[in-house]
Amino acid sequence: MSLVIVGSMAFDEIDSPFGNSGKVIGGSATYSSISASYFSPDIKVVSVVGYDFPDKAMEMLTGKGISLEGVEIKKDQKSFFWHGRYHNDLNSRDTLITELNVLADFNPVLPESFRKTDFLFLGNLSPDVQLSVINQASPRPKLVAMDTMNFWMDIALDSLKTTLQSIDLLIINDEEARQLSGTYSLVKAARIIREMGPKYLIIKKGEHGALLFHGKDIFFAPALPLEEVFDPTGAGDTFAGGFMGYLASTNDVSFENMKRAVIYGSAAASFCVEKFGTQRLEELSKAEINERVKEFVKLVDFTV
Ligand code: AMP
Repeated sequence: MSLVIVGSMAFDEIDSPFGNSGKVIGGSATYSSISASYFSPDIKVVSVVGYDFPDKAMEMLTGKGISLEGVEIKKDQKSFFWHGRYHNDLNSRDTLITELNVLADFNPVLPESFRKTDFLFLGNLSPDVQLSVINQASPRPKLVAMDTMNFWMDIALDSLKTTLQSIDLLIINDEEARQLSGTYSLVKAARIIREMGPKYLIIKKGEHGALLFHGKDIFFAPALPLEEVFDPTGAGDTFAGGFMGYLASTNDVSFENMKRAVIYGSAAASFCVEKFGTQRLEELSKAEINERVKEFVKLVDFTV
């Protein structure tokens, strides 16, 4: 089944306790599409880059079977640039620089061949842009999922609430869930957020795993305890890409299958953090992901 991913393609610079990454490629669409490509052969990206985005990076993505027909190249502008610095615990970070450049007036247009898609993932972008993409997909995809961030809650809450009415699944982190719902308890927050529109909600808790909510059901997946966490950038997008890629590959949007998708997404994300940027993700294999999924099963295996 096809999966269309809309999001940023970027240059990132990351400061972590382990040093500075220099300029590396990143962006929500980059991370999530690479991750999804390990599960599903039909991944299509909609994004925008400037004249400076490396051909080698584009070739790496197409080499993984990802269609870039929906990636606009603006010859007179620079690519989106983000510079972040992690705190010592690697759980929190500050944004030092955001240069929107090509993203400032990004108005994604789905190519004709992208409009009929089974699955749609909207990476972190303005809620108005996300809604315009949903409205271009026809017939309505089987599952529309999106990410968002505090930034949009601060400056575009009304638009965000409108967009939430048109999606099936929201994937956010715990801090964002608390801000969006105005409540501390994540269970209460999940109820309040689902009343805003999405039937399904995933709350990511970084090294503490992820929660999936639907109706009265809750599923919890731990994060794998890792010896080496080098750079968490993109882990959230990698999780979302793996989750959506798994759903697309199985063409099954039941709660039971979403539980498995959460585990596959978590497995993919556990690799992402091992090296700077997309490096580890690029060199990954499906066999390694499957091995890690077995570790997840073992981690939570017990009898009563
Ligand atoms: P994550 O660590 O999963 O939250 O995602 C990190 C990625 O988000 C980086 O590769 C950045 O390029 C990208 N990013 C950061 N800020 C924004 C923004 N305002 N809009 C779109 N993408 C962004």
